Amino acid sequence: MPKSARLKLADDLILRPLWWDDRKRIALPEPVLPQKVDVAIVGGGYTGLSAALTAAHGGATVVVFDAEDPGDGASSRNGGMVGDRLKPSFPTLEKTFGTERAKALMAEPTNAVDYLERLIIDLGIECDFGRMGRYYPAANPAHFRALEAALQAEQAARGDIDATMVSRDEQAQFLASPLYAGGRLQTRTGGLHPARFHDGLIDAARNAGVVIASRTAVLGLEEEDDFIRLDTGLGYLNAGRVLICTNGYTGDLQPDLQRRVIPVTSAIAATEELDPALVERLIPGGRMITDSFNLLNYYRPSPDGRRILLGTRPGLFAARPGPRLAQYIGNRIGQIFPELDGTSITHCWWGKVAFSVDDFPKIGLQDRIGHALCYGGSGVAMSVWLGHKLAQKALGDLAGRTAFDDMPFPGRFYYRSWPWFLGPAMAWYEAKDRLAGRYRRAA
Ligand SMILES: Cc1cc2nc3c(=O)[nH]c(=O)nc-3n(C[C@H](O)[C@H](O)[C@H](O)COP(=O)(O)OP(=O)(O)OC[C@H]3O[C@@H](n4cnc5c(N)ncnc54)[C@H](O)[C@@H]3O)c2cc1C
Repeated sequence: MPKSARLKLADDLILRPLWWDDRKRIALPEPVLPQKVDVAIVGGGYTGLSAALTAAHGGATVVVFDAEDPGDGASSRNGGMVGDRLKPSFPTLEKTFGTERAKALMAEPTNAVDYLERLIIDLGIECDFGRMGRYYPAANPAHFRALEAALQAEQAARGDIDATMVSRDEQAQFLASPLYAGGRLQTRTGGLHPARFHDGLIDAARNAGVVIASRTAVLGLEEEDDFIRLDTGLGYLNAGRVLICTNGYTGDLQPDLQRRVIPVTSAIAATEELDPALVERLIPGGRMITDSFNLLNYYRPSPDGRRILLGTRPGLFAARPGPRLAQYIGNRIGQIFPELDGTSITHCWWGKVAFSVDDFPKIGLQDRIGHALCYGGSGVAMSVWLGHKLAQKALGDLAGRTAFDDMPFPGRFYYRSWPWFLGPAMAWYEAKDRLAGRYRRAA
């Protein structure tokens, strides 16, 4: 087991996203609400804004409501890592759904990344988007073999896919960490600056005529014959369609939806500015990294190549946001990069992602109310894609079909609104990760 480094907390530790330091935050004007609109959207993150853009470009009148400043949910806090994989592996999908449906499901995240890239180019959003690739290092040899088996099954069924296995000996070209037993390299994915991307979506939505009502919660929905009546912080409004895009911040607006959406905290810390040559040597090519631990580490260089940002799901004892959480993440950085001993953590922040119990993203439109949410930890591309698809559905456009349509959206009898079981689950995952480390030492 390599020696860990000890990272320290900066005296002026900032408990706010690093991304907010260099975004151009837009002061939104006081909204003037119309009495009725074609489409009302609840949630002003990537999903809601993407849906708003598609609906407005399709000729609809649109209002987006956000209970906070739009983007203050996950969409300006995330790691900016653009994923092109679903959580269930290809062999698992194939066993459950058969080869053809599994292939269609696997194509959705790839389509999502292509759509995201197209949108960024078409809208001219300056957000440091690039396809620098992602490396998935394995916590131990058993995890490496599992990654390899999944890749072989996928290659057999789908042909030439964009991934290769990297042995422990070759690994330094992709990641200079002694912690891992090799990994899987994907080249078509990449990363972006999440807050700048969100700013760009806000600009584009406003240019398309979308009214954005910030700090305006939607408090209730009442179904009438021909429309839905929304009770909002700014008064009532009638809408032909209502799209719920609230992901990890889903409240009791629709209790039946809330009990199927499991919010989970994810947290990130950033190092102080380092020598860019050191960052490039530790993570060559500015790649995104996601490892195979159960409480996984996801990390990357900042777009300017001067810092390392690492995110994780806080374990049981670090779950409270604050300096203790920053130190917990700093310790993880030190475990991965022992040579960062003595480096300071300058920023730490957190937000909520959402999971479904079967780990699939969820999209649906029934009568006049739709939803798109539950992207797990990988929602940057998927939220934009499913927001777009949901708006197409709302417009009655058949192009809005996805491979996720008609999937069940199960709940659990023991969960309504407070995910009490996450604490014990985190403790279990932490124990499993310690065991994975022991296998690594034995290997
Ligand atoms: C720390 C962190 C790191 C992450 N890193 C990555 C990553 O590297 N790569 C990746 O792919 N994904 C990542 N994600 C996930 C990704 O950010 C999300 O999946 C995505 O931003 C979801 O966007 P959204 O618009 O659906 O939800 P959000 O951006 O969370 O927006 C939901 C909005 O709904 C609003 N809302 C809720 N209820 C109401 C109401 N009643 N009325 C009005 N408004 C309401 C909230 O105020 C909130 O602004 C990360 C998430 C977090 C928190």
